[in-house]
Amino acid sequence: MAQAQIAGTLVQVLAQIPDAVVLVDEDGAIGFFNPAAEALWGLTAAAVLGADAGMLLPRGIQPAGHGVQTGNVDGPGLALQIERNDGVMRRGQMSIHGFEVAGRRFRAAFIRDITDQHRQCEEWQQLLRVVNGSDNAIIVASLDGSISFINSGVTRMLGYAAAEVQGLRLVEPFAGVHTNMAAVERIQSAAREPSTPDHPFRQDLLVYTKGGRPLWVNVGITVITDNAGAPVNLLAVLTDITLTRMREELQQKVLDAMARELPATEVAGILCREVERIAPEVVATFLRVDDGRLFTLAAPRLPVTVTRAMDGESIGPCAGSCGTAAWRGTPVVVTDIASDPLWTGYRDLVLPLGLAACWSYPVKGADGSVLGTFAFYYRENHGPVAFHQSLVDMGLSLCALLLEREKARMRIHQLAFHDTLTGLPNRNMFETQAQQLLNDARRTERELALVFIDLDHFKRVNDTRGHATGDEVLCETGRRFKSVLRDGDLLGRLAGDEFVAILPHCGVHQATGIVERLLAATAPPVVVAGAPIHASASIGIAMYPADGEHVPTLLRQADIAMYHAKARGRGHFCFFREEMSRNIQEQAMLEADLRVALKHDLLDLWYQPQFDAANGHVLSGVEALLRWNHATLGSVPPVRFVVLAEECGLIGELGKWVTQRACRQLADWRARGVEIPRVSINLSASDFRDSTLAERVARTLLAHGLQPHDLTLEMTESVMLGDEPGVLSMIDELHRLGIQLSLDDFGTGYSSLGYLHRLPLDELKLDRSFVRDLDHSDSARALTSTVLRIGESLNIKVVAEGVETDTQRQFLVEHGCPVLQGYLLARPMAPHLLEEWLRAAHAGSRI
Ligand code: C2E
Ligand code: CA
Ligand code: CA
Repeated sequence: MAQAQIAGTLVQVLAQIPDAVVLVDEDGAIGFFNPAAEALWGLTAAAVLGADAGMLLPRGIQPAGHGVQTGNVDGPGLALQIERNDGVMRRGQMSIHGFEVAGRRFRAAFIRDITDQHRQCEEWQQLLRVVNGSDNAIIVASLDGSISFINSGVTRMLGYAAAEVQGLRLVEPFAGVHTNMAAVERIQSAAREPSTPDHPFRQDLLVYTKGGRPLWVNVGITVITDNAGAPVNLLAVLTDITLTRMREELQQKVLDAMARELPATEVAGILCREVERIAPEVVATFLRVDDGRLFTLAAPRLPVTVTRAMDGESIGPCAGSCGTAAWRGTPVVVTDIASDPLWTGYRDLVLPLGLAACWSYPVKGADGSVLGTFAFYYRENHGPVAFHQSLVDMGLSLCALLLEREKARMRIHQLAFHDTLTGLPNRNMFETQAQQLLNDARRTERELALVFIDLDHFKRVNDTRGHATGDEVLCETGRRFKSVLRDGDLLGRLAGDEFVAILPHCGVHQATGIVERLLAATAPPVVVAGAPIHASASIGIAMYPADGEHVPTLLRQADIAMYHAKARGRGHFCFFREEMSRNIQEQAMLEADLRVALKHDLLDLWYQPQFDAANGHVLSGVEALLRWNHATLGSVPPVRFVVLAEECGLIGELGKWVTQRACRQLADWRARGVEIPRVSINLSASDFRDSTLAERVARTLLAHGLQPHDLTLEMTESVMLGDEPGVLSMIDELHRLGIQLSLDDFGTGYSSLGYLHRLPLDELKLDRSFVRDLDHSDSARALTSTVLRIGESLNIKVVAEGVETDTQRQFLVEHGCPVLQGYLLARPMAPHLLEEWLRAAHAGSRI
């Protein structure tokens, strides 16, 4: 073939090959530009032939910088960008070959248009970046389940590198002791399960990291198809659902237990055990805070001896992890129990168990108050790690829920209990309705009375007869009160034995009438299971608007007035007076002073003579009466400090003091020839509940060389109120010893004639209120003569108290009253004055 022919053929070949071909001569001028090049640059050969090759470079690129022109690159693989004539950028891969023809040097550039591959490659790179950036573990597997690709999410989540799992079966490398192998099987044969990219086949699976940590994952499998729809690959996406899963399981189990109304300790136990199952390295405890003390609700892995030792420990600024966390209201992390000062005093409990660290978190109620603590103990010294932290967070909300529910349950129970017991409004309801009545009174400018009713000695009924009986008494009393009140009156029960009533359109006078009816309503005993129970009441009254404008104020003042009523003796009522509120503080001071007075013998006993009515004015005995001359207050009435002593627990002391002092005095009189037949002392109801009373009194008598019948013990009917067997046998014992027993204030209290038969009484003191009324009240006279006759028939000596007038004395003498006591005859006197009085009386031969 001729040279020219060959050249022509070559040109044709070059014209037809798919790569762009550009020939450049040694001056850099384009000598050949094939159709592929024309298409690549969007330029015709005619337009470029003879032009400088630099024009083929993208605009803005220095011509000198490019190999086509400079020819210093020889070989394949040079990537270049081409700017087509219309401005579209193309990607080319260029190889350049230099050659010589007839002594002239040429370069031939072969450029392949790789724009499409390049784009694909870019897309692929981007995809890979996205895939690897995902938090999920993504695995591609062949249809039979063997792994061909994993993203770096797999490495991050499970710790395996691609090379370690390639070729292995799907999810199999991650299976461990507790992995559900049937589920693994299903995942591997997922190609047969129906799935679309929108609805992949899903399966929750417990897997393990390369380091052995358990993880809950959700495996979603999509079958990848080719363009024709034929399956080619499996795409598995693993999502870490450990936390979700834990939360669900924990919540489900704990909530389920709560829904089944299991006791709080059991629910707490489930919670702790579940946490310990998820994190076996943790020892969990859940404690309740009650009144500043810790109590174990659950600590399944701690020995009972340890939890028992911790129970009841006070919270405080330095009270182990839990006590301190509860005290501070913030989490306390102790990484070394052995050395942390917070654990001083407690560490010996837990160190022997091999526990080294303890983080405790306060469990708070909705109002922010600390209800308990939730704590994790560890065998190693370390602080919170993320996984456990999320466990704690989950646990805490459940703990709070449980404790809140307990609180609510108790509250609901309490509310329900109160309402169902008496059917009366409880405090909340009462206060709301009372406020409305008060608003009405304000609008209509009418008066209103708030009445506070407290049953006397109700606690004793509960203690001795049981709560069921107590409840019955409350119900019956509530019914009686209700029946006495008018239609528009409001009656409620505040708590325990406290009732409260609002009497609208009611002045002092009317209120007095209603309150007297209320008191009268308590007089007949409540019969429970055949046994009569006496429940008198003390009542305090506050008036609107005189004493206050608001319900809480009126309530407080009626309450204060009620205490004053109690102090006057049970079964009384009292209107509020301004000076009473001051008394509250005085009371505390008085109590302190009374202690001092008792300790330093600053009290006195005075003696009031009693006279034998039948034999003229023969002295039959004296009653010892307490006197307290207070340094600043002057003489304090005995009713006041006796009630105080009862309330503050000094009454026992007081009784002992009186017994000793009276016996000593009598012995002293006898020794000095002062003739006093006997002495009576007043004892409190609680003295008779002291099982050593008889023995003590006997010893005192003996110590002073006195006979048992030299001493009379006066008691009121309240002694009998609880119907306590101990009290009855004490009274019997005193009687057997020969000590005289007297029933004081007869007629005021519960006046059950039954007592007179049951008790071995020697004496009965007709209350001075009857004696007072003798002059003007028929019923007082009738009652007095009846009592005197009963005394006669039962052979009980009746003493009339408070004889002040001659007509009273006459009536009593005429009706055969054996003994008289009262100001008319003699007032209570200090011992030396009594002696003087006696001497004077002898001189005047009155006795
Ligand atoms: P009581 O046991 O009923 O004592 C009789 C009270 O009546 C005494 O009041 C006495 O001073 C008073 N009295 C006597 N004659 C007349 C009279 O003609 N007219 C009037 N209006 N009153 C008269 P006192 O001393 O103020 O004692 C009051 C109460 O204090 C006693 O009532 C008793 O319940 C209690 N009390 C007094 N001393 C003691 C005591 O040593 N121990 C205990 N537990 N209580 C005591
Ligand atoms: Ca008395
Ligand atoms: Ca009396």
